[in-house]
Amino acid sequence: MTTTTHAWPKVFCHVDADCFFASCERLRRPELKGYPICVLSSNDACVVAKTYDAKARGIKTGMPVWEARDILPQAVYLSADFAFYGTISEHMFMVFRRFSPYVEHYSIDEAFLDAGGLMTLHDSHQAFADDLRQTVQREVGVTVSVGVSMTRTLAKMASEFNKPNGTTILARDDIAAFLDRVELTDIPGIAQNRANTLQGLGITTARAFAEAPEALVRSVLGKIGVELRLELNGESVYPIETESPLPKSVVRSASLGEVTADRDIVHAHLTHHVTRLACELLAKKLVASKFAVFIRHKSFDAVGMEFRLKRPTDNFFAIMSLADQALEKLFRPGERYRGCGIVAMDIIREQEQPHDLFGEVVADRRKGSILQVMSEINRKYGNGAAVMLAALPVRRIRRELRFRYPMLYVD
Ligand SMILES: [Mg+2]
Repeated sequence: MTTTTHAWPKVFCHVDADCFFASCERLRRPELKGYPICVLSSNDACVVAKTYDAKARGIKTGMPVWEARDILPQAVYLSADFAFYGTISEHMFMVFRRFSPYVEHYSIDEAFLDAGGLMTLHDSHQAFADDLRQTVQREVGVTVSVGVSMTRTLAKMASEFNKPNGTTILARDDIAAFLDRVELTDIPGIAQNRANTLQGLGITTARAFAEAPEALVRSVLGKIGVELRLELNGESVYPIETESPLPKSVVRSASLGEVTADRDIVHAHLTHHVTRLACELLAKKLVASKFAVFIRHKSFDAVGMEFRLKRPTDNFFAIMSLADQALEKLFRPGERYRGCGIVAMDIIREQEQPHDLFGEVVADRRKGSILQVMSEINRKYGNGAAVMLAALPVRRIRRELRFRYPMLYVD
């Protein structure tokens, strides 16, 4: 396809690792070379990823493991290790960020890169994409497929076109021929329902959709349809999102796994939820200034308390003291409870916190906090390797452990 494409108004690059989880396993187990690999869901119930040779033999994502073993007994079946895949993913993204300052973290193994204005470093989009692809393979050890085009949607479809380890460049002149060769459901945003609607109107290929009258598309698929149609025609509507949107709220709650009148058990679960909430805020560099704590009666009715803080926080001890206050007020001795939880609201990014007159961040943040250390340990050794002492009665924590390392308790 055409490669002399310097004058595009915008250049989107989509990178997608090839059978990522299975490739990660192959990477750390070179002895499995030549064997098909299936990676299983966290409860080992079904296949969540497979190598291309397993796919070629009829193994599908989501297939129950017994069915897969029936079809392909000689494949290697492995439990998923998301902590390890996360590490490989981080390594890949470090490479991506060397190729563009604007990288969208789309999923664990997919990214969008703004490749506009970078062509001075490469002779062509093809050279840019090939260099990116080969660098990931050389430095990380897994292969990726790359699509480059004038819109986000086309770039994503292009990366899918030549898998594995392929590059597809779609210049304006290539679009029509490309769309002729792909199905409606290959368009991100067109699932089976929307495809059926379009087929009902005689629109059966991606190209026919791109060439359909805008008014018709609007009448059956609304604004989304119009936007997708523009994107397929090379008119960029969807930008690269380098910052994930701020969540309205973050909730951590669960049932106690029993009905109990024991205050310590409820307190343990609240501690567990506050720990997970604070870890999540910390990991996403978010702070919140409003919190709600609730406990759920045996009858499923919940009672709660709301707190508004002067300064937004992600500090475990600050949030835990709210949970303690709430429990003090809400817990009735003799009553039986079945659940509890905590909600963070009014969330902003940590770097957007108010500054005082001297430009100092006004926050009660403790750098290198105990929680940071805990998160680090849990990331390395599996959730539950380090827990708050007060949360210890929560049995669920232990079950999350993947390996049996000595437990480290934090008081
Ligand atoms: Mg992938």
